[in-house]
Amino acid sequence: MVNIYTYVSATSPAEAPVSVPSAEPPMNIARIETFFLFPGKAKNLLFTRVETDDGLYGWGESYVVAGKETVVEAYIHALRPVLIGRSAFSIRHTAQALYDDFTIRRASLEFLAAWSGIEIALWDILGKKAGLPVYNLLGGAVREKVRVYANGWWAGAETIDETVRRAVAVRELGYTALKWDPLPGAWRTFVDRRDEDFAVEHVKAMREALGPDVELLIDAHRRLSPNHSVRLARRLEEYGIAWYEEPTPPENIDLAAEVRRAVTVPIVVGESLYTREGFVPVLEKRAADILNPDIAAVGGISTMLDIAAQAQPYAVAISPHNYNSTLVGLAATVHLSAVITNFTIAELFVNLQEASDRVATQALTVRDGWADLPTAPGLGVDIDIDELRRHPYQALPAKPVRQVWEEFPRPGYTPALKPAIR
Ligand SMILES: [Mg+2]
Repeated sequence: MVNIYTYVSATSPAEAPVSVPSAEPPMNIARIETFFLFPGKAKNLLFTRVETDDGLYGWGESYVVAGKETVVEAYIHALRPVLIGRSAFSIRHTAQALYDDFTIRRASLEFLAAWSGIEIALWDILGKKAGLPVYNLLGGAVREKVRVYANGWWAGAETIDETVRRAVAVRELGYTALKWDPLPGAWRTFVDRRDEDFAVEHVKAMREALGPDVELLIDAHRRLSPNHSVRLARRLEEYGIAWYEEPTPPENIDLAAEVRRAVTVPIVVGESLYTREGFVPVLEKRAADILNPDIAAVGGISTMLDIAAQAQPYAVAISPHNYNSTLVGLAATVHLSAVITNFTIAELFVNLQEASDRVATQALTVRDGWADLPTAPGLGVDIDIDELRRHPYQALPAKPVRQVWEEFPRPGYTPALKPAIR
């Protein structure tokens, strides 16, 4: 009888390592490098390049928030000594071991974003090793193309007219689904009734300008109390909105469930959840029709597959959030979206496209709101490192944080997208 396991001698029998049975020779992580790309706006994009000891490399990307990008980069650097020398094949085991032994079961967004960048790079490497696009390693594509919606086009618009003009321009690029936040001013739980009126006026203007065929995806950004949220959603239903995202503060999922029961528009929840465990109450309490986790924030491709599988028995769809580049982050999203049966549409930030294209030596094809499935091994994208180095990290102006005298309610308040005093 042939023993397929190879026992390796060790000093203590209790700690004796047993090699994992594998048809492949070992391939270990040899190098982990990080690179920022400053796109000239929004935030610095954070890419990770992982190299193995047999010379293969892969690209990953971490979700970052403006002003806090270097925190995630520092986390990746902290992971480096733990990961160098580990098997590049052991993606799921390394993820669990890091959670258990490195974070001591206290994961954070920063840890998960950091690990996402490495995890995605490892899948890129595995695809190259196998000579297959990543979706073929994940069970094969269940669709020919991946539908995407446009976001990022409305950033900084100061009036409804300006938002509408930009939306028309984005539709002319071929996008048939557009997402934005129509609410005025700073994020607050309790708002003036005129804020609701402003949002309704905003959506009405958009519908009139874009016609009936464009899908309007409304993002409430976790802002509103259930009462405001329900009232606003009911008024927006008249304009045929396609979804209503994060209707209430995220920590108490009962609030979103309350909104979902009171309206007919699909409720989207998930961009502020980062673990499989976090999605359990959303599903059990039937708080969402659609989940929108971000592949660069939840621990990469493996966690996204798991969340999609969790959602399926509840007939809940997956529409990946993707506030990342249109290069690595989008590629990982496209491969994942290709293989999950409950996928509907993925996010694409059009304002990050130009910078992403500038550094790409191999890019995705996106046309008329559809991304093609790459056919090259791995993720099917690549980056010119010299070009990347020409656009290094740049600190953006600090985000204003409101003062006591700007709090609401206050006399003389007028709703506006960019009020002089928020
Ligand atoms: Mg959102």
